[in-house]
Amino acid sequence: MVTMEKIVSLAKRRGFIYPSSDIYGGFAAIYDYGPYGVELENNIKHVWWRKVVLQREDIVGLDSAIFMHPKIWEASGHVAGFSDPLVECKDCHTRSRVDHLLTEIKIEADEKMSEEEINKIFSENKEKIKCPNCGKKNFTDAKKFNLLVKSNLGNFTGNWDKEPAYLRGETCQGIYVNYKNVLDSTRVKIPFGIAQIGKAFRNEITARQFLFRTREFEQMEMQYFVHPDKEMEEYEKLRKARWQYYLDLGLKKEHLKWNKHKNLVFYAKAAYDINYKFPFGFDELEGVHARGNYDLSQHAKFSGKDLSYLDSKTGEKYIPHVIESSVGVGRTVFAVLTEAYTEEKVDKETRVVMKFPKRLAPIQVAVFPLLRNKPKLVKKAKEIFDELKTGYTCEFDDNGNIGKRYRRQDEIGTFYCITVDFDSLDNNDVTVRDRDTMKQERIKIKELDSYLKEQYGK
Ligand code: ATP
Repeated sequence: MVTMEKIVSLAKRRGFIYPSSDIYGGFAAIYDYGPYGVELENNIKHVWWRKVVLQREDIVGLDSAIFMHPKIWEASGHVAGFSDPLVECKDCHTRSRVDHLLTEIKIEADEKMSEEEINKIFSENKEKIKCPNCGKKNFTDAKKFNLLVKSNLGNFTGNWDKEPAYLRGETCQGIYVNYKNVLDSTRVKIPFGIAQIGKAFRNEITARQFLFRTREFEQMEMQYFVHPDKEMEEYEKLRKARWQYYLDLGLKKEHLKWNKHKNLVFYAKAAYDINYKFPFGFDELEGVHARGNYDLSQHAKFSGKDLSYLDSKTGEKYIPHVIESSVGVGRTVFAVLTEAYTEEKVDKETRVVMKFPKRLAPIQVAVFPLLRNKPKLVKKAKEIFDELKTGYTCEFDDNGNIGKRYRRQDEIGTFYCITVDFDSLDNNDVTVRDRDTMKQERIKIKELDSYLKEQYGK
């Protein structure tokens, strides 16, 4: 069975994910992507970008900066309201988010609630709520805590609290504030979308779930601008597309679930999350939200700029409504690692194999000489590797015995392992081993490229 411990340990042992600053004892809730992690992450981003941007005529890309005008975070409501109410356990001093504790006892906290309202609900249910760390029921009052991360960028007065530049808390604000630039500089017409992938930073309080909740993370977001009358119709289309995207990514239907928000923020028309069955249970992978015209109206108000859209055909002028799809790269990597993790009994031993879909596997082809101390085998294997590496993500491996090499490639999810043996020298052929079936086929070297092309649908 896949557990958190197994995923975390394989991810580190096999070069996918390392705790940040590992030799210094780690740095809470921050992770680094190792050699295979970065390939997996790039493949995921590539699939998302192709599907969301390149395969659509009505969606364009953007890469906005992490630092933005501080007013943006006031307009977005993050300075005043981007906060999680927290309580601290008086016994073990673990801090917990109130909404998480209430969810445990099946109460949904409303994002608009004041500290007093939250404290009231909390004290009414005090007997039922336990500290997730020590199990005691001895909490402080709830306090709100802002999640934006401050910096001292460009601040030479040292007055960081009063004039902070924030690291962005979400990527979509960069999209809203460039909506007019995109409109004026390209040929988009409503309905259209702007998408971007980029880093976001949040001072997350409870960050104990591996890649699920980190303080530095990457988001893949698409904001779609629509006529107010079309908002719900387009929203339903987006929901369908996003669900299908995850099935195409290889996540099983039974591991996915829609979660409808019961308490909407005042401007939202509808909000659903796509939840994935992580090793610790179902939780949010992506948010798909219908946000009305709140975002553009706020930025129009705070910037003093007219952000309305003029329909050149009908002459109608309006502030577009926004529907959005927002997902974390890290949460997707975590979901894909969870989905791929497989244990099989082979000859009374357990084989661990990461069954990534072909287009996500960090390494597509590994090339081995059967023995490392036979120069002729090594030379031929190197030639094949040099040829294939121009078209595939390849790895050359001559370390340890062949069984160990297969086991290692299984654990990083490599689809095909090619071995050059003594027969290869006479017959100009190699064995190609399939990751999932473990079957080996003899293929002529000159046919390798077309064989792999066929397998990869190139
Ligand atoms: P949660 O309720 O889990 O805190 P959220 O509703 O605040 O998440 P959004 O602000 O809607 O999340 O962000 C959109 C997406 O960005 C989330 O669905 C998730 O995939 C990702 N994300 C948000 N916060 C984090 C984080 N701290 N670490 C990793 N990914 C995150």
